Amino acid sequence: MKTKKFLLQEKDIPTAWYNIVADMKNKPLPMLNPQTKQPVKAEDLYPLFSKAVSEQEMNTTDTWIEIPEEVRDLYKVWRPTPLVRAYGLEKALDTPAHIYFKNESVSPIGSHKLNSAIAQAYYCKKEGITNITTETGAGQWGAALSYAAKAFGLELAVYMVKVSYLQKPYRRSIMQTFGAQVIASPSMSTKAGRKILTEHPNYQGSLGTAISEAVELAMSTPNCRYTLGSVLNHVMLHQTVIGLEAEKQMEMAGEYPDVVIGCFGGGSNFSGITFPFLRHKLVDGKDIRVIAAEPSSCPKLTRGEFQYDFGDEAGYTPLIPMYTLGHNFAPANIHAGGLRYHGAGSIVSQLRKDGLMDAVDIPQLETFKAATLFAQTEGIIPAPESSHAIATAIREAEEAKKEGKPRTILFNLSGHGLIDMAAYDLYIGGDLQNYEVTDEEVKKNLSELEQIIK
Ligand SMILES: *Cc1c(COP(=O)(O)O)cnc(C)c1O
Repeated sequence: MKTKKFLLQEKDIPTAWYNIVADMKNKPLPMLNPQTKQPVKAEDLYPLFSKAVSEQEMNTTDTWIEIPEEVRDLYKVWRPTPLVRAYGLEKALDTPAHIYFKNESVSPIGSHKLNSAIAQAYYCKKEGITNITTETGAGQWGAALSYAAKAFGLELAVYMVKVSYLQKPYRRSIMQTFGAQVIASPSMSTKAGRKILTEHPNYQGSLGTAISEAVELAMSTPNCRYTLGSVLNHVMLHQTVIGLEAEKQMEMAGEYPDVVIGCFGGGSNFSGITFPFLRHKLVDGKDIRVIAAEPSSCPKLTRGEFQYDFGDEAGYTPLIPMYTLGHNFAPANIHAGGLRYHGAGSIVSQLRKDGLMDAVDIPQLETFKAATLFAQTEGIIPAPESSHAIATAIREAEEAKKEGKPRTILFNLSGHGLIDMAAYDLYIGGDLQNYEVTDEEVKKNLSELEQIIK
């Protein structure tokens, strides 16, 4: 019997997160204050985030950052997660490639998001904060944070993009079950929401708008902080537990990946699985490819521009150096809701600019085809987001077959799709379509950006 699953023990849960910035020759450019265009300092972030994560955000020197014992204790609820050899998928593809996936779908809320939610809630609690806010698109981050907030006794208000609030009532019920207050965004509860609703009464919302609302509420409520589930450096940091475990598990399997793949929304699960392997490239010059898989309908890394841009639609956040489609880019309504974000985090953007990683964009129908094959061969229904990584792994395996050479492929299964069956229903019924972004659309959006990087 061939070994299929590579399991670690509780004691193997990493004791420190990996801060890739310390190993990068070219550090990411600083975030800028939009008014003064001066670099943002950790203190500037204290009103918005916990102090601990504000400092992690700016840390360019410490390679390893200790994971607090309370956070590791909660990680033990589901970590370490399994690394699985996808024999079934390999066989169906008749490929000489070896395909491995790290299964982050086994977390209590079904995705990798909990890795950072627990850390962020912990630091808020430790600093005496009582209330937190956030936004959520498809609902995965909100679900993760709801559980984390409850675990540390914090009150949570979640702004959920209205279209998801209406289309994905079960994610809303999950958050409510954990005790969070969920508000459809845009809402009348903030200035940003009221402004948009006055101008466009039927607006179905976007992540950018929901971020604006959550930030506004945090800034105007005493003892309240905001949290973000992707894009920022500290979120990438927390997610490195994924790759650090996978590094040990690939060793147990007696293999080293030629290519590591993660799907890409703002970059957190991609960074989580790839940074610990990229470390071998940065520090030891190891030859390894890493690929971000994004949707064709929201292709910031493949077709966006490297420029300073806001993290949200209303322009409340600092300016972030990122590959972006422009903060007012309105992505098509694809079912991988977690990938509908206009930009990429600043670390990933710098790595991309320096040629240290690749990116591909995948049409929606190819992702559902890949998801269906994966479900039928591996028994797990993947999240529509994760299916972008699966489709990319399949492309790699097919290339290996064409070449007639072995290839070791590792991808991150960021979550399961059991709450996304409405999307599968549409696919089965033949009612899904591809969305392409035209060059004119991209160009028009980008032309509205202030050109700070000349
Ligand atoms: C949120 C989410 C993503 C996208 O976010 P990243 O920060 O890019 O990882 C991908 N997969 C799942 C399952 C998600 O919930």
